[in-house]
Amino acid sequence: MSKPHIVMLGCNFAGLTTARYIHALVKDKASITIIDRKSLLTFVPNIPLQVLANINPAIDLQYKFMSFLEHDGSEFIQAEVITIDADTNTVFYQPNERPGHPVRKIKYDYLVIALGNRLAYDAIDGFSENGHSVTDTFLGNRLRNYLHKDYKGGPIVITSDVFHQGKSDKLPKDLPVAMTACEGPPVELAFSLAHWLEKNQKGNAATVYLSTPAKVIAEDAGETILHQLLPMMTKMGYHYQANTNGIKKVYAGGIAYNDGSTQEAEISILFPDWQAHAFLKELPFTDDKGFVITDLYMRNPDYPNIFAVGDAASLTVPKIGSLGHMEAEVLANTLAKELGIITGEIKPLEFELLCMGDMGGIKGFYMRTNEWWGGKESHLEMGITPYALKMGFKQMYYTLGGKIPHWGLALSEIVGDHTVV
Ligand SMILES: Cc1cc2nc3c(=O)[nH]c(=O)nc-3n(C[C@H](O)[C@H](O)[C@H](O)COP(=O)(O)OP(=O)(O)OC[C@H]3O[C@@H](n4cnc5c(N)ncnc54)[C@H](O)[C@@H]3O)c2cc1C
Repeated sequence: MSKPHIVMLGCNFAGLTTARYIHALVKDKASITIIDRKSLLTFVPNIPLQVLANINPAIDLQYKFMSFLEHDGSEFIQAEVITIDADTNTVFYQPNERPGHPVRKIKYDYLVIALGNRLAYDAIDGFSENGHSVTDTFLGNRLRNYLHKDYKGGPIVITSDVFHQGKSDKLPKDLPVAMTACEGPPVELAFSLAHWLEKNQKGNAATVYLSTPAKVIAEDAGETILHQLLPMMTKMGYHYQANTNGIKKVYAGGIAYNDGSTQEAEISILFPDWQAHAFLKELPFTDDKGFVITDLYMRNPDYPNIFAVGDAASLTVPKIGSLGHMEAEVLANTLAKELGIITGEIKPLEFELLCMGDMGGIKGFYMRTNEWWGGKESHLEMGITPYALKMGFKQMYYTLGGKIPHWGLALSEIVGDHTVV
């Protein structure tokens, strides 16, 4: 009998780690094919650090992963995924190394969707001329050039647009609803940018205008953390505005919000809406916005051979890599059980926010909480240790080809929860 064929779509944070975890469990009991339009992984969380260090983020944050997949015996195809036919177990893809390829088909026994999202910069009026961001290396380098060559010391706005979370009665019950996709990065950037402004004698925390469409920024950090963080930021001098209701327009010299207010700005750093890819919206296993529906074992309830992980999964909210990482472990176990490799009970996803951010000056913050999901865990630490954890994570990820050992997160939690320096 031929081996089951696992096809994985997407090979960035969630995809690479999941592919490697699956291989580590199933070994030669299944064949694995991974498709991504790029053969380089973008290490997104460290883009702001490179921007402030005046280094093009593309140099160090585009990571070659193919040798690790080759070592596992997994197949990699560089191609654009066009669509999926869930009734015939077929993925349609178009090799994209050179234009002109016909669309090809590949059959799967199991399909793992790790395609992330599209970031809707195009939904923000004026973004292409007047908006900045740090969400990919192109935008990171654009901001780096402006900051280091042209910046005159004017106000800097950091804000997010409204996120439209998907709904479906097939999703696990009682998932919290977020108004923004991911507000750890805006908070992190506010801290590290203020440090950069001071160091370069161009301003300080009071130069930064941090705002959110929600009633509070980073609501998923939970009340305990926010009760510490927000007063501290106000004391440091940050301007803070909640309930903007989203971005109306960004123009030369400022930004207009949907609540009618405006803010003068020399630089507007924007985090757009995280939207599902257009082709997913048409498919029968996605929610009303096109995010892939799964249960807490990362499996679609209607198509039990379809799985999702990372930002593409409907239940990944906020859209944060650490949740995707936890889902990767769950998904690999689910598939291994399906293939008879694991026989005992396996654990479902347990929601938790784990975030390590740079604050500039070799300092960072560490947050670990499940309060937003109704839990009682809440840790906020600041100092050199969280910075070291953030930088150490990248080094470990690169060295191990995304296959962070299972004790990796647990160790981060022990060290992070008890930051002493
Ligand atoms: C500035 C910033 C800082 C962040 N910091 C942190 C942090 O400190 N900690 C944290 O946990 N998270 C952080 N995040 C969030 C984290 O980066 C994302 O949650 C994570 O990258 C999601 O991984 P993913 O693999 O699900 O999706 P993605 O990283 O978006 O990857 C999707 C992959 O699918 C491929 N793809 C998409 N469509 C197609 C197609 N049609 N055909 C072929 N290939 C396709 C893409 O090429 C890509 O490789 C940050 C995000 C930002 C923007």
